[in-house]
Amino acid sequence: MLTMPVPDEDTIRRRSAIAAALRRIVPGEGVIEAPVEMRAFETDGLTAYRQMPLVVVLPETTAQVAAVLEYAHENGIKVVPRGAGTSLSGGALPLADGILLGMAKFNRVLEVDYANRCAVVQPGVTNLAITKAVEHKGFYYAPDPSSQIACTIGGNVAENSGGVHCLKYGLTANNVLGLEMVLVTGEVIRLGGKHLDSEGYDLLGVMTGSEGLLGVVTEVTVRILQKPETARAVLVGFPTSEDAGQCVADVISAGIIPGGMEMMDRPAIHAAEDFVHADYPLDVEALLIVELDGPQVEVDHLIERVSEIARANNSTTLRISTSEEERLLFWAGRKAAFPAVGRISPDYICMDGTIPRKRLPEVLQGMAELSRLHRLRVANVFHAGDGNLHPLILFDANDPDELDRAEKFGADILRLCVKVGGVLTGEHGVGIEKRDLMPEMFSEGDLAQQMRVKCAFDDKGLLNPGKVFPTLHRCAELGRMHVKGGTLPFADIPRF
Ligand SMILES: Cc1cc2nc3c(=O)[nH]c(=O)nc-3n(C[C@H](O)[C@H](O)[C@H](O)COP(=O)(O)OP(=O)(O)OC[C@H]3O[C@@H](n4cnc5c(N)ncnc54)[C@H](O)[C@@H]3O)c2cc1C
Repeated sequence: MLTMPVPDEDTIRRRSAIAAALRRIVPGEGVIEAPVEMRAFETDGLTAYRQMPLVVVLPETTAQVAAVLEYAHENGIKVVPRGAGTSLSGGALPLADGILLGMAKFNRVLEVDYANRCAVVQPGVTNLAITKAVEHKGFYYAPDPSSQIACTIGGNVAENSGGVHCLKYGLTANNVLGLEMVLVTGEVIRLGGKHLDSEGYDLLGVMTGSEGLLGVVTEVTVRILQKPETARAVLVGFPTSEDAGQCVADVISAGIIPGGMEMMDRPAIHAAEDFVHADYPLDVEALLIVELDGPQVEVDHLIERVSEIARANNSTTLRISTSEEERLLFWAGRKAAFPAVGRISPDYICMDGTIPRKRLPEVLQGMAELSRLHRLRVANVFHAGDGNLHPLILFDANDPDELDRAEKFGADILRLCVKVGGVLTGEHGVGIEKRDLMPEMFSEGDLAQQMRVKCAFDDKGLLNPGKVFPTLHRCAELGRMHVKGGTLPFADIPRF
């Protein structure tokens, strides 16, 4: 079990006074302190972990967010920002001594600017709502997490979320043009905007993926794209995952970047088929869905090339969508893979790691061995095109031993990802889930450097503490020079 920082009893004792102060900033029903009403916020998508917050505040304006943060900063109170609470890494898990700052009331699309191909939205707008707001004009917002019906764009920015279409169109980081943010001191800043490049350091890049540790996003300007003329999908079954993995590598190395390229293994195929009846072949070990989008003539040509590559890699089933309904049906099983797996197991943990594509067969083999070792089943869905794995570890949370084994199994999978040259996360973030694995990938020096960035924004460590970094350092400690054996390292480098 992962541990959180020990709560500060003094802050907990001041709960009523803190709630009263927050009520002066956000009047009406914007402050929740009754335990029964706070219950809805006690967990996020990492449901094995639960913690009631100190108090919940639901501001509606940037000025209120700024006042809440200024108050928290002056009084040394921790703050956990929250969007829709779908984080799978525990990023929005509350703290017993922390204010939960819910952004759900920031739910308006402020402006759609077709001339500049962008939309300005509040952070509590759901990912899908952005597309809904512009689709009547033939536009859409490209990053499409499977949770897009519920997750917010503020959460997407904080986690640098991805989805099926990110292989071709980039992650959230590549589709966000500007942000309004409130720093922990209450200062409001704007980064980027409708223009394509901004002056100075790439702070937009620093903020995207910062998991609520550097500031609170209060407005987002996103790129919107014109819908491709056409999109068709190919559904391909393979006798082995090695064949499917090789097919993915061959498609990419042929210079083809599909709109999406997803893979499912046998357990995931069966669970999805039972759930949505997408007519998936059940006699295969791996299934690929490859979507090609663009002008009709280009799509027709690429479909042919992908089909040839699939046949050369021993595909046993190959179906090409002939209508929009059929294309959506191909995707329906993949998009519903998580709930489908939820039907065959009381609980599951969805892991998220990324590997170099060509190491896929070896990692799948390693995962099968780990499955035997930890005595737990695993179903796999991947964003195969970009090497982002989502192993779903099946377990029963009512059995503490199974939860323990599931977490160890997950940690071993992520170690395996790092070992083959991959990384700990593709799109779900570090949160608490992968926090203690950070040293598997980063040296002490790397982590200290990342924490210095955190300290530059949040000197008191009040924003979302206990997430991402395995050790909490005081910022003053990080400023110290480490002198080993009386010798200053790299003495010839200028010190500032
Ligand atoms: C069924 C399911 C499928 C999923 N599929 C995908 C997928 O395909 N791809 C993918 O990338 N993710 C996926 N996720 C994970 C999750 O939906 C994303 O991480 C999403 O971006 C979280 O958004 P949220 O609004 O729920 O944020 P929350 O869970 O509320 O918060 C996530 C993090 O963002 C921070 N945060 C939230 N709002 C703000 C803000 N305004 N300012 C600063 N920080 C903020 C929080 O502090 C926290 O650290 C899935 C989750 C589920 C449950």
